[in-house]
Amino acid sequence: MAVQKASWTKINDKVCCTCEYWNGERELQFLAGTRLNAILAQYNPQGRCSAKMNCLMSYSNPGAAYCPTYKRWHKLP
Ligand code: SF4
Repeated sequence: MAVQKASWTKINDKVCCTCEYWNGERELQFLAGTRLNAILAQYNPQGRCSAKMNCLMSYSNPGAAYCPTYKRWHKLP
């Protein structure tokens, strides 16, 4: 089954898909080739957290705001 991706536009929010340790498939989406618009992030099947024993973590997990190991994804500005 192909991986399904969702568009996450709140790139400054602390959620798992903006964190370095989230291992789901994701890519940056630019509008008109210039402005960063969103992260296209895997949601089905869910990605996992490589900092937490590879546990399943939703791309939009709001618990990331309180996660002690959160680290902003290096590809984000
Ligand atoms: S659980 Fe924490 S360390 Fe893991 S991906 Fe989410 S925010 Fe990052």
